[in-house]
Amino acid sequence: MPNVLLTQACVRSCPYCFARKHMSASSPDDILAWEDLIYLADFFQMSGEQRFPILGGEPTLHPDFVEMMVYLLARDFHVNVFTSGIMSNRMLESAVAAFDGIPHDRLSFTCNLNDPGRTRTSLAEQESVKRFLAAFGERVVPGFNIYRTDFELDFLFRLINEYGLHRTLRLGVAHPIAGKKNLFITPADLGRVIERLCSYGPLFERLRIKPGFDCGFPLCRFTEEQLGWYYRFTGGHYDFGCAPVIDIGPDMMVWSCFPMSGFHQRSIYEFNSLQEVHDYYQQLHRSIRVEAGGIYEACDACTYREDGLCAGGCVAHSLSRFWQEEPVRMKEMYT
Ligand code: SF4
Ligand code: SF4
Repeated sequence: MPNVLLTQACVRSCPYCFARKHMSASSPDDILAWEDLIYLADFFQMSGEQRFPILGGEPTLHPDFVEMMVYLLARDFHVNVFTSGIMSNRMLESAVAAFDGIPHDRLSFTCNLNDPGRTRTSLAEQESVKRFLAAFGERVVPGFNIYRTDFELDFLFRLINEYGLHRTLRLGVAHPIAGKKNLFITPADLGRVIERLCSYGPLFERLRIKPGFDCGFPLCRFTEEQLGWYYRFTGGHYDFGCAPVIDIGPDMMVWSCFPMSGFHQRSIYEFNSLQEVHDYYQQLHRSIRVEAGGIYEACDACTYREDGLCAGGCVAHSLSRFWQEEPVRMKEMYT
C-alpha cells in the first residue's frame, strides 16, 4: 500500500531514521501542493485503492494538514497518518475538533514512539506526545522501531494502558540505508532481537496486546515454539517478506521504500496506475535479489525462500554492503 509524504520536514532526529538519506537529499521546505494531493486522490481511486496512508517527515507540520485529511475523508478514503505525535497545541486542537465523530476505521494514526530512557527525547517532546495520545486514544496504533539489542517494551505497554491506545503494537527493525550512516540491527543481531521480543510473549498475552511485525524479519531466526506462539496469538498473520512499500514524495517522485530511496526514483507521472508502480518496483526487487541474495549465506539454498515463505531478510543490507564496491554488478544495483 503506497504512502504519501505531506512534507520532508521532521521534528525529531532519530538515530535509526530510515528516511535520513531521503530527507537529507530533499529540501525540508518541500510540501505537498493541493493540486498534487487532488491528482493523487484521483490516481488512487482510478487504481481501485481506497486506503490513503500519510507519511512525513512529520505530516502534521504541513500547514494544511487538517484540511487535507478532511478532503480525503470527504472522498471516502480510509486514512492512516504516521506521526511522532509531536505537534503544536494549536495543530492538536484543530485536529481534535475536525476529526471528532469520524469512525476509527476511517481515520487512524500510527504513532512511532521512542523510549525516553534510551533515545534522547526532550521533556517538551514527551509532553507533546502524551497530549496527542490522550486526545486520540484508541484511534492510535503504537509503533516502535528497534535499533539496539537492549531495547525494552515496558514503556509501550504502560502508554497503551494509560491512554487506552489500540491494542496492537507495530514492531519494526531498523534497516541500513545504503550510502548513509544510521543505527540499525545487523543480520548477526537479529536472532537476539527476536529472542528478546518473544520473551515479552507472556506479557503480550496477559495484556491482550497483539504484536505486529514489520518487513525484513528472517523466518529462520525464530524457533518453532516462538513461531507457534506468534501464529496462535495473531491468528496466523505473519509475513517474512521484503516487498516494495512504495512511497510518494511531495515532489511527486516515487521510490520503493526509505532504505532503498536512493535507487531508481521515478516520477509518479510515468505510471498509469498504482499496479504499474507496484509491478515496476516488484520487478526491480526481484532483479536485485538475483545479485544480492539474502542476508545470510544459507539464504541461497533455503527452502523457505524457494517456497516463498521468507524473502531472505531486508535487501537493503546487501545494497549497503555493495555500496563501497566497484560498480561491477548488474545495473539494477545502481541508481
Ligand atoms: S528493503 Fe525490504 S525489508 Fe527492507 S525496508 Fe524495504 S521493503 Fe522492508
Ligand atoms: S531465506 Fe534466509 S533469512 Fe529467510 S529463512 Fe531462509 S536462510 Fe533465513
